[in-house]
Amino acid sequence: MSRGTRAVISYSALRHNFKRVQQLAPQSNIWAVVKADAYGHGAVQAAHTFSDADGYAVATFDEARQLRAAGLTKPILLLEGVTCAEHLIEAAQLGCESMIHCQDQLDHLSQLTQGEQIKVWLKVDTGMHRLGFLASSLPQIRQQIAELESVQLGGVVTHMCCADDLRRPEITQAQLALASQCKEQGEQASFANSASIIKWPETHADWVRPGIMLYGASPFADLSAQDIQLKPAMTLSAPIIALRRVSKGESVGYGLIWTAERDSVIATLAIGYADGYPRHAPSGTPVMLNGQRVATAGRVSMDMTMIDVTDVADVAIGDMAQLWGDELPVDEVASVIGTIGYELLTRVSPRVERLYI
Ligand code: PLP
Repeated sequence: MSRGTRAVISYSALRHNFKRVQQLAPQSNIWAVVKADAYGHGAVQAAHTFSDADGYAVATFDEARQLRAAGLTKPILLLEGVTCAEHLIEAAQLGCESMIHCQDQLDHLSQLTQGEQIKVWLKVDTGMHRLGFLASSLPQIRQQIAELESVQLGGVVTHMCCADDLRRPEITQAQLALASQCKEQGEQASFANSASIIKWPETHADWVRPGIMLYGASPFADLSAQDIQLKPAMTLSAPIIALRRVSKGESVGYGLIWTAERDSVIATLAIGYADGYPRHAPSGTPVMLNGQRVATAGRVSMDMTMIDVTDVADVAIGDMAQLWGDELPVDEVASVIGTIGYELLTRVSPRVERLYI
């Protein structure tokens, strides 16, 4: 039997957020980004829910295999490309499309034999300096691809590194200018992640690649998910498994780093860093209990976290506390912890039961 710690995933929130993408980028095809187990929401369930997507984008070949094994038939784009030659033929057979970002990957392509077809997209480095060819080398790369019978060129892709930073528009503008130049007549292009979809319509092009917005969190530090009309898809909750009184001056948890400033009631929750609730969450990180905002007290342990419930009436063992979700935005919790919603969502561990409603 489950210990009760769970991530409830809302299909209607996922559908709502997908519709937001369609509203914001009505002319573009959509690759729903479902890598990292759909940012912790369950790749197969999320991909089925995004049934109007034109394709899915994943990071690794295993993630693509998982979608195919579950019977999903739409195009799947491998965002890092096929990273080892052995996977190339299987990727082609599974109908995956591959990003190509370096000469090694181009070299692998010549191993395909007649009958095995793969569509590839050229990743262009327009300033992020993480992956991709320089724009100046594209004519030569296109030439190499044209000589490969089994390879079809989809188009060009770039990744925006600062679209979430509205105080530095010049960076996105410069990336976009370079990316647009790379797009040759008749060739498709994809530039936009969530931040670009929401704030940079000029980046939408032929294909958009939304990730975080599908899951109802904000890519922006200074705009909440609600501001951009997104609904949180994951609500992470854990039950109270112990309750105790501590007197003023007594301390709590490993290292005794939190000391009661008054006689207090401390509840122990069945969630810890092994479940994905970060150990470095400081005392005072918000948590919701019975509709009331409370705060963590002391260090997060592997399996348990304490909260100060002194001001909550009628607390009982078994009450569910919400770590983030429909009552407490994941982005707000992330900002107190010193990280981003992306990291909190993707790190919810497999031992947390997923419940789909
Ligand atoms: N495209 C690429 C290449 C990515 O690496 C990512 C995510 O990291 C995305 C799209 C989706 O980005 P976001 O979750 O910010 O929408």
